[in-house]
Amino acid sequence: GKLTMAILNLLHFPDERLHTVAKPVTDFGPELQRLIDDMAQTMYAAPGVGLAATQVDVHKQLFIADISEDNKGLLVFINPKITHRDGECELEEGCLSVPGVYDKVAGRAREVTVQALDRHGKPFSLTADGLLGLCIQHELDHLLGKVFVEYLSRLKQDRIAKKLKKNQRKAM
Ligand code: ZN
Repeated sequence: GKLTMAILNLLHFPDERLHTVAKPVTDFGPELQRLIDDMAQTMYAAPGVGLAATQVDVHKQLFIADISEDNKGLLVFINPKITHRDGECELEEGCLSVPGVYDKVAGRAREVTVQALDRHGKPFSLTADGLLGLCIQHELDHLLGKVFVEYLSRLKQDRIAKKLKKNQRKAM
């Protein structure tokens, strides 16, 4: 039958599963295509500009991004590696796994070049700055088991974790 897309459950900081290190993708079959479509649906519904497989509890080296206004610029990065970084980034970032929290992270590059495979396994290289450049660095961290707030001070992290736990209780 026809595949329908689904909204996937997002893991929220400080969920331990966000610390899982993702494994390379080796199978580009229908299961992966379905996962990418579901991740896109989930990202657009949130709404967000980037989503890593880690955030939906799938520990494969895959993330998506779309910084377009009309949700028609979906980029898929599989087994990605940053091959070049330049300058420093001054933008605040947020995360669908840490709702309502925005902060600057020290050490982000202004511009990055990433090598990856597309959804069909075809290699490509992309150089990006601004929001997309930041997004690529943020999503790659997820694949390494790192959430952006873990770059912040211990005090800030504890405060964020407490706040999110409280919100989760309310939601249940
Ligand atoms: Zn994130």
